[in-house]
Amino acid sequence: MIAAANGIKLIDTEGNEFFDGVSSLWVNIHGHRKAAIDEAIVRQLGQVAHTTMLGLANLPAYELAGQLVGITPAGLNRVFYSDDGSTAVEVALKMAFQYWRHQGKPDKQKFISLEQAYHGDTVGTVSVGGIDLFHRVFKPLLFTPVHIPAPSCYHCRLAADPAECGLKCAAVLEQVLAEQHEEVAGLIIEPLVQAAAGMLMSPPGYLAKVREITRKYDVLLIADEVATGFGRTGTMFACEQEAVAPDLMALSKGITGGYMPLAATLTTDEVYNAFLGDYAAKKTFYHGHSYTGNPLACAAALANLRIFREEKVIEGLGPKIAAIADRLAEMAVLAHVGQVRQCGLIVGIELMLDKSKKVPYSWEQAAGASVCRQARKYGLIIRPIGDVVVFMPPLASTVAEINTMLAIIKRSVTEVT
Ligand code: PLP
Repeated sequence: MIAAANGIKLIDTEGNEFFDGVSSLWVNIHGHRKAAIDEAIVRQLGQVAHTTMLGLANLPAYELAGQLVGITPAGLNRVFYSDDGSTAVEVALKMAFQYWRHQGKPDKQKFISLEQAYHGDTVGTVSVGGIDLFHRVFKPLLFTPVHIPAPSCYHCRLAADPAECGLKCAAVLEQVLAEQHEEVAGLIIEPLVQAAAGMLMSPPGYLAKVREITRKYDVLLIADEVATGFGRTGTMFACEQEAVAPDLMALSKGITGGYMPLAATLTTDEVYNAFLGDYAAKKTFYHGHSYTGNPLACAAALANLRIFREEKVIEGLGPKIAAIADRLAEMAVLAHVGQVRQCGLIVGIELMLDKSKKVPYSWEQAAGASVCRQARKYGLIIRPIGDVVVFMPPLASTVAEINTMLAIIKRSVTEVT
């Protein structure tokens, strides 16, 4: 039971302190109780806490939209607010679907998504999800996307030597679109890292190839940067690393520095313009939530972005990322560590019963959960995804703190596997 926090530490009701090793579910950026964000919210409280965005706007939301356009990939000039990551993706799916109707191509209704994808917990986002454990039970309720292979070399079923394969997983996409592109509205992807799948990381060039193929076949590319956005991968957005400009981008989690629920779906002028016209033409995008563009959350987001600029947060990540890489190299040799995966400050440590034959632990053995429980004894809160131990520290963690947290993980893995 958490009662308070200080920097990157959480404090429970008995006064015990824990490192927040999952950034409070991948949202926290600058630590807890960051003065500049606290003050921005209090200042906004002195103005107005909430007004509707239906027919009105508010100053922090207006200012933030401009800043988001400035920091996201070129061409994403339009911002649609909502409240959480699932909804930001849901909005992107609905926008892509409706866009093609306005373009006179109503047959473009299908979506392509990746096996093992996770895009949220609403009905639309579960439809494009691909994690059996979470999504199977809802199947009768859902629309069906075309799933393409997850670009995870460690688990690859397509190539005997993934290092030499020339991106066979992307070739599958090309094949699917060659046959079906006239029916496909969009492709949705978690760029670089399929997070909830267990931090599966795509090989270099895959994302750029997906952009090239979707453009060739006139299919909208939706980048779900809910987990990867705001510095997590070492750059402000994952798409930057392969110079990719998607047609739609979903943002949430780190947008307020991990303080308040807020989300945004960005898109291009081309998509936006398709929705303009006389009211009688019925081109309106009907999607509006009560708390959309909440001024307190937008004020927190503005403070978050100011800290990124003033404290040169992205520029300071290099030594932290290097320290993680060094500690992971030491962990990779442990008897039951199958693979260590890192992209910036995103880490997945996949445990294996037999690493040489890639035999996983059984469900009942719950090796990942045991490691995380052990780590809590040593003052670190982390969470497993199956047998992948996830480490996602706040960007504000120092090199010394990162080393301490990873030493706890190493000790815990050694003791319980
Ligand atoms: N998309 C991705 C890639 C995510 O990782 C998540 C959450 O983990 C979501 C969407 C859903 O976000 P939220 O939990 O804020 O609805």
